[in-house]
Amino acid sequence: MSRTDTTPTASNQAARFAFPHSSTPTRCQLTPRLFDFTNGDRAADRAATDKRLAQARRACAGCPIATDCLKWALANKHLTRHGIWAATTPGQRTDLRNRLTDRLGPDWINVLADRDQARRERAAAARHQPLTVNQARIVRLDRELNGPMPRQPLTPKDQQRNYDRLVHALTA
Ligand code: SF4
Repeated sequence: MSRTDTTPTASNQAARFAFPHSSTPTRCQLTPRLFDFTNGDRAADRAATDKRLAQARRACAGCPIATDCLKWALANKHLTRHGIWAATTPGQRTDLRNRLTDRLGPDWINVLADRDQARRERAAAARHQPLTVNQARIVRLDRELNGPMPRQPLTPKDQQRNYDRLVHALTA
């Protein structure tokens, strides 16, 4: 399984978790050898394998897409039979899949994907929630009194001055 080839190809279930996008190359793409791992590696040279494992795990711990990488790796068993993904070994991923099956049932991939989708929809809805009449009135008044939102963050002193003006206008 190549680190650059992360396109799901098997079941429809697994395809619900695409490999997460990263705006910068991940450590496993830059140094894939570090993330090579099969269960027999320890038998050959335990100390060297453990050292490499620890390095890979540290790299994953600092990876911005680690959470989604783990979900992808768990859902796409056929693509992740070997290697370290999101700091887990193949054996640990098997344990996690078994626990998810116990907790969420045999359809756990769809259950997780549905939850993720519901979370994304709630976040999108919250972003597009229209302002109430009162909120819109305050925003308009703030703009009239204090001008448009500046590009630079306001100093605490300016924030307080703007706030005082607003309170004064609302209570006058
Ligand atoms: S978390 Fe996943 S994508 Fe990030 S470095 Fe580790 S294996 Fe690569």
